[in-house]
Amino acid sequence: MAWFAEYPREKIEWYPTIDSEKCVKCGMCMNCGQKVYKWTGDVPIVANPYKCVVGCTTCATLCQGKAISFPDKEALRELYKKEGIWAKVKKELTEEGRLEVTD
Ligand code: SF4
Ligand code: SF4
Repeated sequence: MAWFAEYPREKIEWYPTIDSEKCVKCGMCMNCGQKVYKWTGDVPIVANPYKCVVGCTTCATLCQGKAISFPDKEALRELYKKEGIWAKVKKELTEEGRLEVTD
């Protein structure tokens, strides 16, 4: 399935922000498989923000310093609604047979 029914990723403002005052340099954010972060010197930076999986907050959960934050999830849900993304994704899943009930 195309990502969010072809909706352009760059138009979705969902990515982590690091509060450098809180960062304790634990390195847990580097566990992200999407290569969103890059370790530079002795601190992480958000190098590839649009590679972040929309809606994911795993790195914030792991972050020992509670230094990572994300935009409001409700704003994301508003976007899904406004752009008809739920309906488009459901249509694609149906076409792919992934919503069929199998016993
Ligand atoms: S939210 Fe998920 S995908 Fe995004 S940077 Fe964190 S771990 Fe990676
Ligand atoms: S997980 Fe949090 S505290 Fe640890 S290095 Fe990354 S931003 Fe800093």
